[in-house]
Amino acid sequence: MTQAEKPAQDPWLLTPGPLTTSRTVKEAMLHDYGSRDQRFIDINRHVRDRLVEIIEGQGSHVCVPLQGSGTFVVEAMLSNFVPSSGKVLILINGAYGARMQAICEYHRLQSEVLQWPEDKPVDPGQVAECLAGDSSITHVAVVHCETTTGILNPIEAVGKVVSQAGRSLLIDSMSAFGALPVSTKEINFDALVASSNKCLEGAPGMGFCLASESALTATEGNSDSLCLDLYQQWRGLESNGQWRFTPPTHCILAFDQALKEFDDEGAVAGRGGRYRENCEVLVAGMRAMGFETLLPDALQAPIIVTFKMPADSAFDFQRFYDGLSERGYVIYPGKLTVAESFRMGCIGRLGISEMRGALEAVRIVMEEMGVDSGSPAD
Ligand SMILES: *Cc1c(COP(=O)(O)O)cnc(C)c1O
Repeated sequence: MTQAEKPAQDPWLLTPGPLTTSRTVKEAMLHDYGSRDQRFIDINRHVRDRLVEIIEGQGSHVCVPLQGSGTFVVEAMLSNFVPSSGKVLILINGAYGARMQAICEYHRLQSEVLQWPEDKPVDPGQVAECLAGDSSITHVAVVHCETTTGILNPIEAVGKVVSQAGRSLLIDSMSAFGALPVSTKEINFDALVASSNKCLEGAPGMGFCLASESALTATEGNSDSLCLDLYQQWRGLESNGQWRFTPPTHCILAFDQALKEFDDEGAVAGRGGRYRENCEVLVAGMRAMGFETLLPDALQAPIIVTFKMPADSAFDFQRFYDGLSERGYVIYPGKLTVAESFRMGCIGRLGISEMRGALEAVRIVMEEMGVDSGSPAD
């Protein structure tokens, strides 16, 4: 991952997505395959099988890919798995949890909400209490890494209380999948969704749902959307290897290459290890310049880091953003209600040298603004 590997004009994306991809992933897209080309059908099979293996779900779980960005498959999961007679408890500690609630409103699904501040993880104890008090709740929906802040939610512990209460779990693992372990041996879930472009480092354009085969089978007829009908998408793929509508062929070719690179790196352990290193280098370097993270290290997932806005009146976020961008590093504004903030991501095809480069750019831009410290304290 040297600078020479990338065309000079592409910035490094320290964002929650779209993310930096390898040159070889981009090159995998230099083909026009017909959807009925046997090579393409085989690649689809391989991608779907490999995704099931990542969760150790062979024999019990299946993979249903879906065109669109990640939110499309979140919407598909909720609107397919929660029947009109059901009720879903949504755990919210950030924007992606809130988005799940919005999805349920669109689909007129019955829902209940448990909410925490953005800097607190969801609390399995409160989930257990809520389930004990409301027998009409059939499903619980949780976000794995809440990308709003980068906070890690304890999905195994949530899974335990949901199972004990005899309800079903739905997981948005979009920004964590591939970097943090999820195994069907450790956690019971009906469905989990993620996408091609986050920690798996493919091109953006498709999501996928990893579902218990029996739970997916039971969703037949539930969907109130033609395009988002996961059961029908699955039946189509199983019967003739075809997506129901034009597949994102280039995206799938890139995804297949991205999965090879994921395996070459040592799968979840290797990928997660690199991101953890990125995160540690980034946080240590920013702290050395006075910046403070929103979250204590114990709650921080190695995905994206929220920094509090510096207090120095000479600090101007737009200038900071533009200065970094001019130097080839794209960061992300904050999305918080609890504090003024900005975010820097650790995921995508980035390594320690890119993190160090970003830190050096931060140092230079701070100097240009005449800001001595990134400290948020006055
Ligand atoms: C990125 C992300 C999504 C999907 O966002 P899109 O912009 O639709 O790709 C959903 N949930 C979480 C937690 C995410 O990080």
